[in-house]
Amino acid sequence: TDIADDLLRGLGGIGSGMAAPFSDPVIRLGVTGLSRAGKTVFITSLVANLMDRGRMPGLRAEAEGRVLSAFLQPQPDDTVPRFDYEAHLAALTGSEPRWPESTRAVSELRLSFRLREGGMFGTFRGPRTLHLDIVDYPGEWLLDLALMDRDYADWTAEVLERIGTRAEAAGFLAALTDVDGAAPLDEPQAKALADHFAAYLTAARAAGYSDCTPGRFLLPGELAGSPVLTFAPIPKPGTTPRGSLWREMERRFEAYKAKVVKPFFRDHFAKIDRQVVLVDALGAIHAGPRAVEDMRRAMAAILDAFRPGRVGWLTGLLGMRRVERILFAATKADHLHHSQHTRLTQIIAALMREAKDRADFAGAETAAMSIAALRATVEETVRHNGDTLDCVRGRLITGKEAAFYPGELPDTPGPLLATAREGAERWLDADYEIMSFAPARLSLKPGEGPPHIRLDRAAEFLIGDRL
Ligand code: GDP
Repeated sequence: TDIADDLLRGLGGIGSGMAAPFSDPVIRLGVTGLSRAGKTVFITSLVANLMDRGRMPGLRAEAEGRVLSAFLQPQPDDTVPRFDYEAHLAALTGSEPRWPESTRAVSELRLSFRLREGGMFGTFRGPRTLHLDIVDYPGEWLLDLALMDRDYADWTAEVLERIGTRAEAAGFLAALTDVDGAAPLDEPQAKALADHFAAYLTAARAAGYSDCTPGRFLLPGELAGSPVLTFAPIPKPGTTPRGSLWREMERRFEAYKAKVVKPFFRDHFAKIDRQVVLVDALGAIHAGPRAVEDMRRAMAAILDAFRPGRVGWLTGLLGMRRVERILFAATKADHLHHSQHTRLTQIIAALMREAKDRADFAGAETAAMSIAALRATVEETVRHNGDTLDCVRGRLITGKEAAFYPGELPDTPGPLLATAREGAERWLDADYEIMSFAPARLSLKPGEGPPHIRLDRAAEFLIGDRL
């Protein structure tokens, strides 16, 4: 049925436009996650490890010797920025390795495979080609989906209620005190309010909150300073005359939905076949219960985008297409000794399950994993006061090299999620705070990609069935 699907897609003219009947098949893999979740490092290491597969035993086609080669090609979409693979790889693998620049907007990269068929026919048929189009985009943009079925008045009421008690919002809330939405629009005032609101979102994001929409306020790209980003939630006045501040804010909010959010879903999201959602679960767990609860909500919101039928206009855009596989991956697992990886996976699976229970994903297969796209540590067991402690050793950004113990995750996700809601205990507060590792200096053997944890298993889940 894969072939039938491809044919239907090609004939229907949906999708990338590349899957015309009888041309080489294409998989479009979406890579998302909130800012700093690890998208850039993930894509860079994935591509490097798919080209040089010495560390990819978990990829079945590779283990069976069916991958003849993998190479980069020009991408199909001429107007989408290319993912800057070479610069990112050079940063990670240079003589003074450093982390690459993070994702700021959507970008794309095409990796093509030459594959030998398995089984008896493999030897008779010639090799086939499969294109993997990787689409990198900020998870913040997916959260904007929640704006689509709200009008400005609903959204404003909701945001003001939610942020009322947050310390990060103090500046914005103070700026609101003498705002009269019924007064005529004053552009400098609108701009000042938008700036205050953007500053709030940035601070909230830094404090570990995930519900930071509109997403373009954090990652504006070329829209910075445009009217479509110059609005903020303000209390609804008794009357909203034409030309009033409130009316103009409302108009811009609607323009943001129609001209920013919708085109993103139409042009990028609607074409994705497989999706990986990266989550910095360890970061949130360390930041504390509030951040975990918030991450849980953000993941549920992200998942909403993958539930066809929920949003009418989105269903219209997606047509017959659907995302076939979704992987939730907790990133940076190299901060933990492998003895704790199962716990991390259980946490991410529990976070996902709740959202999943609300509706199935119309047949999409899902999985949860703990991975490190670029392993920056080695494991070490240290004796401490007669006890043994499972540590990881690595070089910090500061240059110091040592073994660290990040603390312990709960052995079942239940307590963590419960405390998250009640807001009491903290997890991972031993050395985690200071554990900002630099990428390790590498001396790669020919045919070997950078070291990772379970990146091969992630790749197998995402694309293995098509290789
Ligand atoms: P993006 O904003 O989602 O593109 O995130 P990046 O890929 O730029 O990653 C953000 C930061 O997380 C990096 O600069 C690293 O500090 C850290 N990071 C990402 N992946 C890994 C990993 O596999 N191991 C470790 N130790 N750190 C990672």
